[in-house]
Amino acid sequence: MTPVGSLLVAAGLHKAYGATPALDGASFSIHPGEVVAVMGPSGSGKSTLLHCLAGIVQPDSGTITYGGRDLTAMPDAGRSALRRSDYGFVFQFGQLVPELTCTENVALPLRLNGTRRKDAERAALEWMERLEVAEVGHKRPGEVSGGQGQRIAVARALVTSPRVLFADEPTGALDSLNGERVMQLLTDAARDTNAAVVLVTHEARVAAYSDREVVVRDGKVRDMAGAA
Ligand code: ADP
Repeated sequence: MTPVGSLLVAAGLHKAYGATPALDGASFSIHPGEVVAVMGPSGSGKSTLLHCLAGIVQPDSGTITYGGRDLTAMPDAGRSALRRSDYGFVFQFGQLVPELTCTENVALPLRLNGTRRKDAERAALEWMERLEVAEVGHKRPGEVSGGQGQRIAVARALVTSPRVLFADEPTGALDSLNGERVMQLLTDAARDTNAAVVLVTHEARVAAYSDREVVVRDGKVRDMAGAA
C-alpha cells in the first residue's frame, strides 16, 4: 500500500551483487518537501537503496513508485528522462566538469534540456547567488575551494527545480564549518521549493538537518520515528 501523500515509495526491495546481498526487503517513502537522512554502517546498503530510488540500479525484486508511476516497469529511456526532468544529484566528489567554468557547470542541466544559453546562465547565476558562490562563476572547478565546489554542485543539482534531490555524503569531503553551511543552504533551498531530499550520510551532525532519520542495516530499513 502506498503511504498517503508520498512522492517516492519503495517496497520490499531486494538486490544482490553475485552472492552478496545489498538490499534484503528494504522499504522507504518520502513526501514532497521532506528531508530524510539515510544512515547506517558502511556496506549496509545505503548507496544501493539511493541508486534504486534514483532509477540508476534496477532491484532484483520489489516495487518503486514515483508520483504513482512504477519505476521498475519503466524502460531505461523513460527512467533516464525522469532523472533529467525530476531528479537532482549531489555526490561527494568529482561531479563538476573540469573544462567548464562554474557558471557553465551550473547551467549545464538546463542546456541539456534545451534551454537557451542566456536563460540557462541567468538561472545558474541566481542559484549561485543563493548558494553564496556567484563570485567564482568565471573560474573553473580546479580553481575554487572544496566548499565552493560543493556549493556549485548543489546549485547545479537545484537549477532544474527537481522534485527529488539525492545527496550521497554531500559534505563528506568538507570541514565541519563548510559542511554545516552547505547543509543549511541545501535544506533551506529544498524546503523553499518543496523538493524531497534523500540524504545519505553517516554523520549525525549532517543528519540533524533532516526531518526524519532512517537506518539501513543488513539491507533493511528501520524508521527511527517508530523505534523504541
Ligand atoms: P553503503 O552505501 O551502506 O556503504 P552499499 O550499498 O554501497 O552500502 O553496499 C552494500 C553491499 O553491496 C556491500 O556488501 C557492497 O560491497 C555490495 N556492493 C555494492 N555495490 C556493488 C557493486 N557494484 N558490485 C558488487 N558489490 C557491490
